[in-house]
Amino acid sequence: MIILFSLIVGCSYPGITVYEYDGRQITVNFLDKDSAFEYIQNSNYSERMNRLNISLRLDEDLNSIDRKYEVKTHEKFIRENIKDWDGYEKHIVWGALENAIEKLETFSPALIPDTLFFINTSMRLEFNAFFTVNKAICVPSSVVWPLLFGSLIEKKIAHELFHIYSRYNEPKRDSLYAIFNFVKADTIIAGKALSTKMINNPDVHSNNYVLSLEDISCELKNLFLVVKLNEPKYNNNRGAISFLGATNIFDFFDGHILELENIGDNSFRVKDSISVNSYELAKIKANFDEVCGSLSSDRFFAEEILAESFTFGYLTLEDSDLLEDCTTQDREKLQRILKIIRGY
Ligand SMILES: [Zn+2]
Repeated sequence: MIILFSLIVGCSYPGITVYEYDGRQITVNFLDKDSAFEYIQNSNYSERMNRLNISLRLDEDLNSIDRKYEVKTHEKFIRENIKDWDGYEKHIVWGALENAIEKLETFSPALIPDTLFFINTSMRLEFNAFFTVNKAICVPSSVVWPLLFGSLIEKKIAHELFHIYSRYNEPKRDSLYAIFNFVKADTIIAGKALSTKMINNPDVHSNNYVLSLEDISCELKNLFLVVKLNEPKYNNNRGAISFLGATNIFDFFDGHILELENIGDNSFRVKDSISVNSYELAKIKANFDEVCGSLSSDRFFAEEILAESFTFGYLTLEDSDLLEDCTTQDREKLQRILKIIRGY
Protein backbone atom coordinates (compact mmCIF):
# COMPACT_ATOMS: atom_id res chain seq x y z
CA MET A 1 0.00 0.00 0.00
CA ILE A 2 2.76 2.40 0.94
CA ILE A 3 4.56 1.57 -2.29
CA LEU A 4 1.57 2.68 -4.33
CA PHE A 5 1.52 6.04 -2.58
CA SER A 6 5.14 6.61 -3.47
CA LEU A 7 4.29 5.95 -7.10
CA ILE A 8 1.62 8.61 -7.12
CA VAL A 9 2.92 11.98 -8.23
CA GLY A 10 0.54 14.86 -7.68
CA CYS A 11 0.95 17.94 -9.82
CA SER A 12 -1.54 20.48 -8.55
CA TYR A 13 -2.85 23.69 -10.00
CA PRO A 14 -6.12 25.42 -9.20
CA GLY A 15 -9.04 23.05 -9.53
CA ILE A 16 -7.26 20.43 -11.60
CA THR A 17 -4.80 17.79 -10.54
CA VAL A 18 -3.18 15.21 -12.75
CA TYR A 19 -2.20 12.07 -10.94
CA GLU A 20 0.30 9.73 -12.50
CA TYR A 21 0.74 6.26 -11.15
CA ASP A 22 1.96 3.06 -12.56
CA GLY A 23 2.01 4.34 -16.14
CA ARG A 24 -1.53 5.70 -15.94
CA GLN A 25 -2.93 9.15 -15.42
CA ILE A 26 -6.08 10.42 -13.80
CA THR A 27 -7.10 14.02 -14.29
CA VAL A 28 -9.21 15.21 -11.41
CA ASN A 29 -11.08 18.44 -11.80
CA PHE A 30 -12.87 20.18 -8.93
CA LEU A 31 -15.36 22.27 -10.86
CA ASP A 32 -16.22 25.73 -9.66
CA LYS A 33 -19.84 26.81 -9.42
CA ASP A 34 -20.18 28.14 -12.99
CA SER A 35 -18.32 25.29 -14.69
CA ALA A 36 -20.31 22.78 -12.65
CA PHE A 37 -23.61 24.32 -13.71
CA GLU A 38 -22.52 24.25 -17.34
CA TYR A 39 -21.42 20.62 -16.99
CA ILE A 40 -24.77 19.57 -15.54
CA GLN A 41 -26.74 21.63 -18.05
CA ASN A 42 -24.84 20.08 -20.98
CA SER A 43 -25.77 16.62 -19.74
CA ASN A 44 -29.50 17.35 -20.25
CA TYR A 45 -30.05 16.56 -16.61
CA SER A 46 -33.22 18.65 -16.33
CA GLU A 47 -34.66 17.45 -19.64
CA ARG A 48 -34.60 13.91 -18.29
CA MET A 49 -36.71 14.89 -15.26
CA ASN A 50 -40.48 14.97 -15.62
CA ARG A 51 -42.74 17.33 -13.70
CA LEU A 52 -43.18 15.03 -10.69
CA ASN A 53 -39.43 14.62 -10.34
CA ILE A 54 -38.74 18.33 -10.63
CA SER A 55 -41.55 19.16 -8.17
CA LEU A 56 -40.18 16.74 -5.60
CA ARG A 57 -36.68 18.12 -5.84
CA LEU A 58 -37.92 21.68 -5.52
CA ASP A 59 -40.45 20.62 -2.88
CA GLU A 60 -42.93 22.73 -4.79
CA ASP A 61 -46.04 21.73 -6.72
CA LEU A 62 -45.39 22.73 -10.31
CA ASN A 63 -48.66 23.08 -12.15
CA SER A 64 -47.46 24.85 -15.24
CA ILE A 65 -48.23 23.27 -18.58
CA ASP A 66 -45.16 24.92 -20.03
CA ARG A 67 -42.39 22.34 -20.22
CA LYS A 68 -39.78 25.01 -20.97
CA TYR A 69 -40.72 26.79 -17.74
CA GLU A 70 -40.31 23.55 -15.77
CA VAL A 71 -36.85 22.94 -17.17
CA LYS A 72 -35.82 26.55 -16.60
CA THR A 73 -37.12 26.45 -13.00
CA HIS A 74 -35.17 23.27 -12.37
CA GLU A 75 -32.01 24.75 -13.87
CA LYS A 76 -32.36 27.81 -11.66
CA PHE A 77 -32.69 25.49 -8.67
CA ILE A 78 -29.56 23.59 -9.74
CA ARG A 79 -27.59 26.82 -10.09
CA GLU A 80 -28.68 27.89 -6.60
CA ASN A 81 -27.61 24.59 -5.12
CA ILE A 82 -24.09 24.27 -6.49
CA LYS A 83 -21.19 25.72 -4.57
CA ASP A 84 -17.55 26.56 -5.05
CA TRP A 85 -15.15 24.21 -3.28
CA ASP A 86 -13.28 25.45 -0.29
CA GLY A 87 -9.82 24.13 0.52
CA TYR A 88 -10.94 22.02 3.45
CA GLU A 89 -13.69 20.26 1.49
CA LYS A 90 -11.28 19.51 -1.34
CA HIS A 91 -8.73 18.19 1.10
CA ILE A 92 -11.23 15.69 2.57
CA VAL A 93 -12.49 14.54 -0.82
CA TRP A 94 -8.90 14.23 -2.11
CA GLY A 95 -7.92 12.05 0.81
CA ALA A 96 -10.92 9.80 0.26
CA LEU A 97 -10.22 9.58 -3.48
CA GLU A 98 -6.56 8.68 -2.89
CA ASN A 99 -7.59 5.89 -0.55
CA ALA A 100 -10.16 4.65 -3.07
CA ILE A 101 -7.64 4.72 -5.94
CA GLU A 102 -5.10 2.87 -3.87
CA LYS A 103 -7.54 0.03 -3.24
CA LEU A 104 -9.14 -0.01 -6.68
CA GLU A 105 -5.71 -0.22 -8.27
CA THR A 106 -5.46 -3.87 -7.21
CA PHE A 107 -9.15 -4.71 -6.76
CA SER A 108 -10.63 -3.44 -10.04
CA PRO A 109 -8.42 -0.90 -11.88
CA ALA A 110 -11.00 -0.54 -14.68
CA LEU A 111 -13.07 1.54 -12.28
CA ILE A 112 -10.45 4.27 -12.11
CA PRO A 113 -11.45 6.73 -14.82
CA ASP A 114 -9.01 8.77 -16.91
CA THR A 115 -10.93 11.93 -16.10
CA LEU A 116 -13.02 12.64 -13.06
CA PHE A 117 -14.90 15.75 -12.04
CA PHE A 118 -16.15 16.71 -8.61
CA ILE A 119 -19.12 19.01 -8.12
CA ASN A 120 -19.94 20.53 -4.76
CA THR A 121 -23.68 20.52 -4.08
CA SER A 122 -25.89 21.77 -1.32
CA MET A 123 -27.92 19.25 0.61
CA ARG A 124 -31.03 20.02 -1.45
CA LEU A 125 -29.91 19.13 -4.95
CA GLU A 126 -30.55 15.39 -4.95
CA PHE A 127 -32.05 14.86 -1.50
CA ASN A 128 -28.59 15.16 0.09
CA ALA A 129 -27.36 12.13 -1.83
CA PHE A 130 -24.11 11.59 -3.70
CA PHE A 131 -24.88 11.11 -7.40
CA THR A 132 -23.19 11.22 -10.77
CA VAL A 133 -23.61 13.30 -13.90
CA ASN A 134 -21.60 11.88 -16.81
CA LYS A 135 -18.05 11.72 -15.40
CA ALA A 136 -18.75 13.92 -12.40
CA ILE A 137 -19.38 12.89 -8.83
CA CYS A 138 -21.68 15.34 -7.08
CA VAL A 139 -20.79 15.58 -3.41
CA PRO A 140 -23.25 17.08 -0.93
CA SER A 141 -20.63 18.98 1.03
CA SER A 142 -22.67 18.89 4.24
CA VAL A 143 -21.25 15.40 4.70
CA VAL A 144 -17.70 16.62 4.18
CA TRP A 145 -17.25 18.75 7.25
CA PRO A 146 -17.13 16.11 9.94
CA LEU A 147 -13.78 14.39 9.61
CA LEU A 148 -15.49 11.41 11.16
CA PHE A 149 -17.26 10.84 7.88
CA GLY A 150 -13.97 10.44 5.99
CA SER A 151 -14.37 6.72 5.44
CA LEU A 152 -18.00 7.20 4.49
CA ILE A 153 -16.90 9.53 1.70
CA GLU A 154 -14.39 6.98 0.44
CA LYS A 155 -17.12 4.33 0.34
CA LYS A 156 -19.44 6.72 -1.49
CA ILE A 157 -16.73 7.57 -4.01
CA ALA A 158 -16.14 3.87 -4.76
CA HIS A 159 -19.90 3.42 -5.17
CA GLU A 160 -20.21 6.43 -7.51
CA LEU A 161 -17.16 5.34 -9.53
CA PHE A 162 -19.05 2.13 -10.21
CA HIS A 163 -21.94 4.19 -11.67
CA ILE A 164 -19.53 6.07 -13.96
CA TYR A 165 -17.92 2.80 -15.07
CA SER A 166 -21.33 1.26 -15.71
CA ARG A 167 -22.46 4.34 -17.67
CA TYR A 168 -19.58 4.11 -20.14
CA ASN A 169 -19.26 0.32 -20.40
CA GLU A 170 -22.62 -0.85 -21.61
CA PRO A 171 -21.73 -4.43 -22.65
CA LYS A 172 -20.11 -5.00 -19.24
CA ARG A 173 -23.13 -3.43 -17.58
CA ASP A 174 -25.44 -5.89 -19.35
CA SER A 175 -23.31 -8.82 -18.16
CA LEU A 176 -23.22 -7.47 -14.61
CA TYR A 177 -26.99 -6.94 -14.49
CA ALA A 178 -27.53 -10.49 -15.78
CA ILE A 179 -25.90 -11.84 -12.60
CA PHE A 180 -29.01 -10.57 -10.80
CA ASN A 181 -31.46 -11.79 -13.48
CA PHE A 182 -31.86 -8.44 -15.27
CA VAL A 183 -31.99 -8.92 -19.01
CA LYS A 184 -31.59 -6.12 -21.52
CA ALA A 185 -34.71 -5.34 -23.60
CA ASP A 186 -34.90 -3.17 -26.70
CA THR A 187 -38.02 -1.38 -25.49
CA ILE A 188 -40.22 -1.40 -22.42
CA ILE A 189 -43.45 0.52 -22.83
CA ALA A 190 -44.58 1.77 -19.44
CA GLY A 191 -47.46 3.89 -20.75
CA LYS A 192 -47.99 7.59 -20.18
CA ALA A 193 -49.91 7.35 -16.90
CA LEU A 194 -47.26 5.22 -15.22
CA SER A 195 -44.35 7.17 -16.72
CA THR A 196 -45.55 10.39 -15.13
CA LYS A 197 -45.45 8.67 -11.73
CA MET A 198 -42.02 7.09 -11.94
CA ILE A 199 -39.20 8.46 -9.77
CA ASN A 200 -35.89 9.09 -11.52
CA ASN A 201 -32.51 8.22 -10.18
CA PRO A 202 -29.77 10.14 -12.02
CA ASP A 203 -27.38 7.19 -11.61
CA VAL A 204 -29.68 4.84 -13.50
CA HIS A 205 -28.57 4.82 -17.13
CA SER A 206 -31.50 2.95 -18.65
CA ASN A 207 -34.81 1.46 -17.57
CA ASN A 208 -34.76 -1.12 -20.35
CA TYR A 209 -34.04 -4.15 -18.23
CA VAL A 210 -36.47 -6.98 -17.58
CA LEU A 211 -36.27 -8.79 -14.27
CA SER A 212 -36.71 -12.47 -14.99
CA LEU A 213 -38.02 -14.40 -11.97
CA GLU A 214 -40.26 -17.36 -11.24
CA ASP A 215 -43.73 -16.85 -9.85
CA ILE A 216 -45.62 -19.04 -7.40
CA SER A 217 -46.11 -21.86 -9.93
CA CYS A 218 -42.45 -21.74 -10.98
CA GLU A 219 -43.35 -20.05 -14.24
CA LEU A 220 -40.77 -17.55 -15.43
CA LYS A 221 -42.20 -14.03 -15.39
CA ASN A 222 -41.01 -10.87 -17.10
CA LEU A 223 -41.05 -8.12 -14.53
CA PHE A 224 -40.32 -4.41 -14.32
CA LEU A 225 -39.07 -2.49 -11.29
CA VAL A 226 -40.68 0.87 -10.79
CA VAL A 227 -40.24 3.38 -7.99
CA LYS A 228 -43.25 5.56 -7.25
CA LEU A 229 -44.02 8.23 -4.73
CA ASN A 230 -46.14 7.13 -1.81
CA GLU A 231 -48.35 10.19 -2.09
CA PRO A 232 -50.34 9.90 1.18
CA LYS A 233 -47.15 9.39 3.16
CA TYR A 234 -45.41 12.22 1.35
CA ASN A 235 -48.30 14.65 1.79
CA ASN A 236 -48.62 13.80 5.49
CA ASN A 237 -44.94 14.47 6.05
CA ARG A 238 -44.45 17.40 3.73
CA GLY A 239 -41.50 19.49 4.79
CA ALA A 240 -40.01 16.79 7.02
CA ILE A 241 -36.27 17.25 7.19
CA SER A 242 -33.37 15.12 8.27
CA PHE A 243 -30.94 16.07 11.03
CA LEU A 244 -28.71 17.65 8.38
CA GLY A 245 -31.53 19.91 7.30
CA ALA A 246 -32.30 18.28 3.95
CA THR A 247 -35.66 17.07 2.75
CA ASN A 248 -35.89 13.50 3.93
CA ILE A 249 -37.74 11.95 1.06
CA PHE A 250 -36.42 8.44 0.58
CA ASP A 251 -38.94 7.08 3.08
CA PHE A 252 -41.69 8.18 0.73
CA PHE A 253 -40.53 6.09 -2.21
CA ASP A 254 -42.12 2.70 -2.80
CA GLY A 255 -40.72 -0.02 -5.03
CA HIS A 256 -43.19 -1.87 -7.24
CA ILE A 257 -42.72 -5.06 -9.22
CA LEU A 258 -44.93 -4.97 -12.30
CA GLU A 259 -45.62 -7.71 -14.78
CA LEU A 260 -44.62 -7.26 -18.40
CA GLU A 261 -46.13 -8.69 -21.51
CA ASN A 262 -43.74 -9.80 -24.24
CA ILE A 263 -44.81 -8.08 -27.47
CA GLY A 264 -42.06 -9.56 -29.64
CA ASP A 265 -38.75 -8.26 -31.00
CA ASN A 266 -37.32 -8.17 -27.49
CA SER A 267 -39.92 -5.54 -26.58
CA PHE A 268 -42.26 -5.51 -23.62
CA ARG A 269 -45.27 -3.64 -22.32
CA VAL A 270 -46.47 -3.19 -18.74
CA LYS A 271 -49.62 -5.30 -18.39
CA ASP A 272 -52.90 -3.46 -17.98
CA SER A 273 -53.54 -5.25 -14.72
CA ILE A 274 -50.65 -3.03 -13.46
CA SER A 275 -49.41 -5.34 -10.77
CA VAL A 276 -49.01 -9.03 -10.20
CA ASN A 277 -51.42 -10.19 -7.51
CA SER A 278 -50.24 -9.98 -3.94
CA TYR A 279 -49.94 -13.75 -3.43
CA GLU A 280 -47.63 -14.07 -6.42
CA LEU A 281 -45.87 -10.89 -5.44
CA ALA A 282 -44.85 -12.30 -2.07
CA LYS A 283 -43.27 -15.27 -3.77
CA ILE A 284 -41.61 -13.09 -6.40
CA LYS A 285 -40.27 -10.77 -3.71
CA ALA A 286 -38.86 -13.74 -1.82
CA ASN A 287 -37.18 -14.97 -5.00
CA PHE A 288 -35.86 -11.48 -5.66
CA ASP A 289 -34.45 -11.27 -2.12
CA GLU A 290 -32.77 -14.61 -2.67
CA VAL A 291 -31.20 -13.41 -5.92
CA CYS A 292 -29.86 -10.27 -4.23
CA GLY A 293 -28.68 -12.17 -1.18
CA SER A 294 -26.87 -10.06 1.40
CA LEU A 295 -24.82 -8.10 -1.13
CA SER A 296 -27.34 -5.31 -1.54
CA SER A 297 -30.26 -3.96 0.42
CA ASP A 298 -31.51 -1.98 -2.58
CA ARG A 299 -34.53 -3.43 -4.34
CA PHE A 300 -35.40 -0.39 -6.45
CA PHE A 301 -32.91 -0.31 -9.30
CA ALA A 302 -30.65 -2.88 -10.98
CA GLU A 303 -27.91 -0.24 -11.17
CA GLU A 304 -27.99 0.32 -7.41
CA ILE A 305 -28.06 -3.42 -6.67
CA LEU A 306 -24.85 -3.75 -8.68
CA ALA A 307 -23.23 -0.63 -7.22
CA GLU A 308 -24.01 -1.80 -3.67
CA SER A 309 -22.76 -5.30 -4.38
CA PHE A 310 -19.55 -3.93 -5.86
CA THR A 311 -19.09 -1.63 -2.86
CA PHE A 312 -19.68 -4.58 -0.54
CA GLY A 313 -16.81 -6.40 -2.26
CA TYR A 314 -14.69 -3.26 -1.97
CA LEU A 315 -15.35 -3.05 1.77
CA THR A 316 -14.25 -6.64 2.30
CA LEU A 317 -10.73 -5.55 1.34
CA GLU A 318 -10.43 -3.92 4.76
CA ASP A 319 -12.91 -6.01 6.65
CA SER A 320 -12.88 -9.63 5.52
CA ASP A 321 -15.25 -10.48 8.40
CA LEU A 322 -18.03 -9.14 6.21
CA LEU A 323 -17.67 -12.25 4.07
CA GLU A 324 -18.61 -14.44 7.03
CA ASP A 325 -22.27 -13.50 6.66
CA CYS A 326 -22.22 -14.28 2.93
CA THR A 327 -23.72 -17.42 1.49
CA THR A 328 -21.84 -19.44 -1.12
CA GLN A 329 -24.17 -17.87 -3.67
CA ASP A 330 -23.19 -14.34 -2.51
CA ARG A 331 -19.48 -15.17 -2.78
CA GLU A 332 -19.94 -16.61 -6.24
CA LYS A 333 -21.76 -13.48 -7.32
CA LEU A 334 -18.96 -11.29 -6.00
CA GLN A 335 -16.45 -13.35 -7.95
CA ARG A 336 -18.52 -13.04 -11.11
CA ILE A 337 -18.78 -9.26 -10.68
CA LEU A 338 -15.02 -8.93 -10.32
CA LYS A 339 -14.35 -11.29 -13.20
CA ILE A 340 -16.50 -9.22 -15.55
CA ILE A 341 -14.96 -5.90 -14.45
CA ARG A 342 -11.39 -7.24 -14.58
CA GLY A 343 -12.00 -9.01 -17.87
CA TYR A 344 -10.46 -12.31 -16.76
ZN1 LIG B 1 -25.86 4.72 -6.27
